[in-house]
Order: sequence, then structure tokens, then C-alpha cells
Amino acid sequence: MEISFNPATEAQRRPRPTDESKLGFGSIFSDHMVRIEYSKGRGWHDARVEPYGPITLDPAAMVFHYGQEIFEGLKAYRAKDGGILTFRPEANFERMNRSAARVCLPELPVETGLAALFSMLRADADWIPKTRGTSLYIRPAMIATEAGLGVRPAGEVLFFIIAGPVGNYYARGLEPVNILVEEKYVRANKGGTGEAKTGGNYAASLLAAKEAKDKGFDQVLWLDGATQSTIEEVGTMNIFFLIGDELVTPPLGGSILPGITRDCVLHIARDRGWKVSERTIGIAEIRSAAADGSLREVFGTGTAAVISPVGMLRYKDDTFTVNGRKIGEIAKQLFDEITGIQYGEIPDRFGWVRRVE
Ligand SMILES: *Cc1c(COP(=O)(O)O)cnc(C)c1O
Repeated sequence: MEISFNPATEAQRRPRPTDESKLGFGSIFSDHMVRIEYSKGRGWHDARVEPYGPITLDPAAMVFHYGQEIFEGLKAYRAKDGGILTFRPEANFERMNRSAARVCLPELPVETGLAALFSMLRADADWIPKTRGTSLYIRPAMIATEAGLGVRPAGEVLFFIIAGPVGNYYARGLEPVNILVEEKYVRANKGGTGEAKTGGNYAASLLAAKEAKDKGFDQVLWLDGATQSTIEEVGTMNIFFLIGDELVTPPLGGSILPGITRDCVLHIARDRGWKVSERTIGIAEIRSAAADGSLREVFGTGTAAVISPVGMLRYKDDTFTVNGRKIGEIAKQLFDEITGIQYGEIPDRFGWVRRVE
């Protein structure tokens, strides 16, 4: 598919951040965006890179009423040689298509998504910050734009990509977070939408996160929807435990988001010959591992933070402190290896990096 380019005029250019040490997350956006339209019968058409700007929709657009929306999250990194690197972007577009299938949105050919993304990155190349640890966060999304209140899959859809520079998540070092094990709300159930990256899952999680924050916690740990006794995810990240010498994470059973960072950790850990398991973990097992001292590390994985160490877990009236609230050795090694590959500093032995030419 041909991708047209309509460059932003001087007046359409957006204010640039001046201080890369003060970049936050998700509040500044670059000059350009991608749009690709879909209509039933015609398929995907009118792919373009154009100035960043509002999307005008009919108030009856289905996304506003029934939440037919999916998204992705990935980053572009500035290599030492000045080049632009992306990390496993095809995995994001493949996952987006699995999410699309779950909520009856059309699949976008992976090569079309990649070509559009790369065109946009070339247009906004000078938006990619240069300081180590900073990056350009990329947000592809797909929404049902057809106007109509009948409940059915929309026949008109918009795919778009926006992006913006984000700061070093760990400007102050890898600070372990405090987690509340959630007992009242659940995130997902088997057969639901837990494994799709769809906005509705986030809407459903806000109240739990808010109540946990009000109690002084950073995130919640989700338990399974049916029995609330086995571990699923932490906040918007996958979760790993180092119990004795076993690195363990819950299996992708249908209710857990198949994280790309999770997959990287599994690859690296297996490649290093560590003992790794994808298996069901009861909260009771974590409680006893904490009690007998075998719970050595806990960390979340996701694109934004890469590896987020957990310093403390609260379950009912019990508080489990992890590794003296310090970052663990395994978490540190994984963080260094993944970010080293992302910034092109260490050999890309798994073939994960795609350079924007
Ligand atoms: C995106 C996401 C993750 C992490 O996925 P990555 O591909 O590693 O960024 C984990 N859990 C949820 C609920 C997510 O939405």
C-alpha cells in the first residue's frame, strides 16, 4: 500500500521540549501522525503520514458507545551512531491483530503497519531524544468510526499512530514499587478480553488502581477472576517471581496480556540456562515463600518501565518485603541486557532490533 506524506508546515509544527532530563510520559506529541482508513468492502485505504491533529468523528461513532478500540505501545531509541532503532515492532503489529480479532476490528497487514510507522519515524526523526534512557514512545491504535447505535462490528474503522518523547523512567534509579494484592476487583476472566490490548480493560482497572493509590500503594497485583487465589499481572505489566533458583511467571491462559517484554525475559533467561517456568502461582505459594525466605525477587515487565522491581507486597493483613526493598540481581541483569539491546549497545543476538533506514 502506498503511504502518502503531507509534511507539517512551520505553523503546524509542535512545541519541542527543551530539556530532555524533564520529559515525563505521554503528554508531548510529535509533528506527525499516521492515519489509515478501513471500510467494509474496500478494505484498508488512504494510508498517510500527516500533521498531528484532532480526529473529527460523528457523535454516533461506535467507539464512543461500545468501546470497540485496541492499542499498542512500543518505542524508538536513538543509537550512539545517531541511528533510529525500534524493538520487535512486528511483534506489536502481530499482537494488535490478535486484539483486533477479539473485538471484531479488521486486521492490518503487519508490513503495512511497519511501513507506515517507519515513514512517520523518518518524518519525526529529530523528535527522538538523545539522552540514554529517553525514547520516543509510539502509540498505534484502532477505533470503530462508523456512525450508528446498533450493536454490531463497525464497518468503518480508523487506524492511527501518534508518538512523543518520553523521559528516563529510572532517572532516579530503579526504585522498587509497593504493591497491593487486589481482593475486591478483578481485571479479567478466561473467555473475556484480558489477553487483548483494548481500552475497556483499562477503564475497568482504574478504580482498583485509584483505591490502591489512596492507600499508599503504587500498583495492584491482579488475581484470577474465578477464584482470586492465583496470580495474573501487576497493574499494566506482567509479573515474575524468583523463588529459590526458579524464575517463574504465570502462563498465558487467556486472561493475561501476552507482553513482549515478558517474552524477552523468558528468552534471555532460557538462553542463559536459568531455571524458568511458566506455571500457575498461588498467592499462598508467595506467602509461604516470603515466610521461609525463598522469595528472592519480584518484578513487573512492560515496555514503559522494561523491568519494575517490587519492593513490597501487601495481601490481606500480611506484608511481604522483597529483597530488603532493593532491586535484585536478576532484575538488574535483565534490565541491563534488554535496554543494552534496545539502544544498540550490545549484540542483538535474538534479532530483535529493526533499524529505521
Ligand atoms: C501492554 C501490557 C503489558 C506489557 O506488554 P509489553 O508488550 O511488555 O509492553 C502487560 N499487561 C497489560 C495489561 C498490558 O496492557
